[in-house]
Order: sequence, then structure tokens, then C-alpha cells
Amino acid sequence: MNNLKITIGLEVHCQLSTRAKMFCRCGTDYIGKGPNSLTCPVCLGLPGSLPVLNQRVLDLALQLALALGCRILPKVVFHRKNYFYPDLPKGYQVSQYDYPIGVNGSIDYALQGQRKSVRIKRVHVEEDAGKLVHEGMALMPDQSGVDFNRSGIPLAEIVTEPDIRSPEEARECLMMFRSLVRYLEVSDGNMEEGSLRCDANISLSRNPGEMGVKVEVKNMNSFRSVYRALSFEVERQKVLLHEGKEISQETRHWDEIKHVTVSSRGKEEAEDYRYFPDPDLLPFSIDEASLMNIREKLPELPLERKERFMLEYELTESEAGVLVSSKMLADFFEECLKELNKPKTVCNWITTEVLRNLKNLGKNINQSEITPKAFTELLRMIEKKEISGTIAKSVLEEMFTSGMNAREVISKRGISFISSEKELENIVVDVIENNPQSVADYLGGKQKAFNFLVGQVMRQTRGQASPEMVKNVLYKQLSAGG
Ligand SMILES: [Zn+2]
Repeated sequence: MNNLKITIGLEVHCQLSTRAKMFCRCGTDYIGKGPNSLTCPVCLGLPGSLPVLNQRVLDLALQLALALGCRILPKVVFHRKNYFYPDLPKGYQVSQYDYPIGVNGSIDYALQGQRKSVRIKRVHVEEDAGKLVHEGMALMPDQSGVDFNRSGIPLAEIVTEPDIRSPEEARECLMMFRSLVRYLEVSDGNMEEGSLRCDANISLSRNPGEMGVKVEVKNMNSFRSVYRALSFEVERQKVLLHEGKEISQETRHWDEIKHVTVSSRGKEEAEDYRYFPDPDLLPFSIDEASLMNIREKLPELPLERKERFMLEYELTESEAGVLVSSKMLADFFEECLKELNKPKTVCNWITTEVLRNLKNLGKNINQSEITPKAFTELLRMIEKKEISGTIAKSVLEEMFTSGMNAREVISKRGISFISSEKELENIVVDVIENNPQSVADYLGGKQKAFNFLVGQVMRQTRGQASPEMVKNVLYKQLSAGG
């Protein structure tokens, strides 16, 4: 029974990063906004209102499809997907059917050092629905309401072929999707806030040559729940097959609290939706020049960049993986190397101290005060032994919170950075000459006089030398003079 073939395909929805909705000019930054505050006749589906496509939606979708290596279809056609639900005021969703934006692409990711590839069946765009609110309604506490702020927000849907063979692979592949949309800046890819959502279909088969019965799993809101829900399904279906029972084709919801999937409804087929071309949105063709323009502007993608970092900077797979997990962080790393060409050192500090500080502040690197110049200046000071690594860590922390550069923090705090005894000698000789009484007292055996002299030197250096070094130089000079 263990040689069952697991087949998983993913359907990923990501919210495209546009300022306005897909067919109207309402804003998309609905988080924290009052219910139905971002609505108009178009996204409320009022009779007589007409949709106008936001060009940015098309540009972002084309970027995504091109980055996934898809063939771009020459025509853009929108279809109405008809179904009834209270959060869908028009009674249909504008989506794409037989004419998606792109087809036949692929996404590559690495798992335990092995490069894997999943074919992409299609990439299409569609509008989001509203949201039912069942709790916290101020005026009608025991009733449900609908918030249409999300209605009409543009989504891209990416459908993979069933090329995934385990829950681990599914999680890894989804993480690569997130990296990709973030690299392209087509979506913020935030699963917690719902900008990246994933459904999966999974089947188990005894016969490696054929597919088993497909079960769709929904409501997975994190990478961990994708992994857990699919692992649960593998076990559930194994048991059924083992007992000689049938697996029914259905949709199941992942219950995040009980850690089980629950049957919710039979799976609709495409014909249930009665797709038909939207008469308000006429088909149009994609202009070849703008397509070329988008293709040329595509950035280096995460997997390629990771492999280049390993080769070019001799980083390990996990080091390179952490750096390229965010485009901003990888860009910051490479900007730093222009200032200080020590990839290992820069990488070590970014993947530990920089990330730790960012996490504490709840910011990303671009939102923080640290510039590559200021950061590498600090690293250079450690290299020159002007400050110790331990002090540098706390200096860095203050750089993050105050926006000061390293030298400003150091002089404000009076941290030592006179690094050679030679630099101290003149000051020490001065202090000895100006305090003959204390020198005599010390030579006469008074330890207090020595401490006084140390204090004088520290004052002269404005605290920029370490006390140990001051004591050392002072002791030598006094011994030499005496
Ligand atoms: Zn609107």
C-alpha cells in the first residue's frame, strides 16, 4: 500500500498590486477601512454601470505570465462566470475562460538541493468578490452583512499541472510563487492578509499510470496549513484505499483548529457556471511592442539569483536562500558589496543582526533607516579593529532605531575607537606632564593617583579609547619615566 502515487496540483490566487480596482477607480487599500467605504456603482454591480479595464492589471498579469515562461495569447477576452452568492452583487464574476492571459509555463524551485519543475497550465485574471461579515456588526449585532470593499479587486489565478508529488513539494512550490510575485512586485504575496491564497487538488492512485479521484482542498491560509492539510488528505485517502473504499470527488475545507479536512460540497464543473463572453468588455489584442517592453524589464528571478549568489559569492545554499527570499534584501546585499567587497562578512551580518533588528522593529530593509553605506562603514570599523564585534552589534541596533550613522552613535555614547597605543601616547605624555603631583603620588605607592590619571586620559580622548588600553599605555609611560 505504500507505493501509492500522490498527485497534487495548485491553484494560486494573488492580489495584483494596483492602486485602483480592476474595472473602476475605487481604491484597493481596504485594510482598516470602514465597510463599503471603497465602493461605487461598478463594483457594487448596480444596473447601468459599465466596467473599464485598469491597464495596470493587464501589465502586471503579463509580467507574471512572462516570468513563468508562459506563451501569451494574442487576444484578451473576459468571461462572466455565473453563480449566486451574497458577496457577488452582479450574480457573476468577471474572469477569463478559454482565453487566459498565458498558457504552458513552468515554475522551478529547489528542495533539498534538487531542482524541481512544475508545469503551469494557465495564468488568468479575474475580479475578487466581497466579504460576508458574520460578527461585530455595530447596528445589527445578531445579523450578517456584506462588505464590498474587496469586490472588484484584481486577482491573478495561476493553475499548475498536477506535477507535485508530496505535501513538502507543494509547500516549497507555493513559497517559490510568493518569492516570484514579490520579486516582480506584482503582488505583496501576503498570505495572512489574503493577498496570496492557495487551493489544491490531490489524488492518490494505486496504479502509477493513472490518476486517482481528485479531491479539492480549500481554506489553507498559511504555508504550514498547506502542508498540514495535504498531509492529512494523504493519510485519509490512504486509509480509504486500504479499506477498499471509494474516494469521492468533492471539495473539502481545512479546519485550522481541529486539523482535519471537512467535506463541503460536490465539485462544480465548468458547465455549471455558464461562462459566456462579457458583452460590456470587448475582446482586444495585445500590442507586440508593449509586450516586448515588459519582457525586457523583467528582473532576475529568485532561483537564478540564488544560484548566482552561490557561484559568484561562494555562499552556501541556505545563506543565498535567506538573502534572495526578499528582493529588497538581496538588492541591499549587493549594494553593500559595492562598498565593501567581503561577501561572507556582509552576508553573515545581514542574515543574523540585520534581520534580527528588522524583525524587532517589524520593518523591511527599505523601511528601515539603514543604508548600505552606513552599514558597511560599521563593518569596516570592525575589520580595522576600531570597535569590537560585540560593541558593533549594539551600535547597529541604535543605528536602526535612531537613523544615526556608526560614528555618530559611537561619539554620542563615548564608545572607544582609538585603536592603536601609538595614537594614545601623546595624550598620555601630556597628562603625565600636567599632573606632576599625581605622578609622584603614584610612584610613592598610591593606587588612587593612578586611577585619577586614567580618568584624565579618558577625558582627553572623550572616551574614545578603551580603559584597558589607557591603563596599559599609562603604566608603560610611568614605568619608563620612573
Ligand atoms: Zn468601484
